[in-house]
Amino acid sequence: MQNNHIQFLKLAFEEAILAERGGTYPIGAVIVDSEGNVISRGRNRVFTEIDCTAHAEVDAIRQASHVLLDITNRKFNKNDFTLYTTCEPCPMCTCTILLSGIKQVVWAADDDEYGAIRRMKEGPHFLSLFNTIQYIASPCLELENKQRKMLKEWNIRRGIIHKEWEEKIKT
Ligand SMILES: [Zn+2]
Repeated sequence: MQNNHIQFLKLAFEEAILAERGGTYPIGAVIVDSEGNVISRGRNRVFTEIDCTAHAEVDAIRQASHVLLDITNRKFNKNDFTLYTTCEPCPMCTCTILLSGIKQVVWAADDDEYGAIRRMKEGPHFLSLFNTIQYIASPCLELENKQRKMLKEWNIRRGIIHKEWEEKIKT
């Protein structure tokens, strides 16, 4: 299996080289299913497509979405997908990975500055970044309940019953 990891990391490096030639961050990624099939390849496109969110991992996830998603049933496919990337994923990519159904991440190089998976698994981090933004959470009960109702009904339509989107009562 260790050899397979290295083989797939080398595919990710092919993408990193393409990114580098294009004049953007030299980072590449591939997604592989549990049978070892490569289902997508992605690379950084931040400066080539003028898109701050175009990181290699997000690019690979976008291109794999036809496999990650079960379109018919409006759910996520269950498969032990692995994402290989040349560099430890940043906070944005880490969260995208968490929300895409990917179960394993392998990277070639640790990123001690922006790498997020190791630190986020340990606890609250990136406080210096969080200190630069403010948030206003649910200022209007009517709008909050509107969103809750829409999500609850969306789940019911696809056969999922959760309690989490019940209407909030004013306290
Ligand atoms: Zn990223």
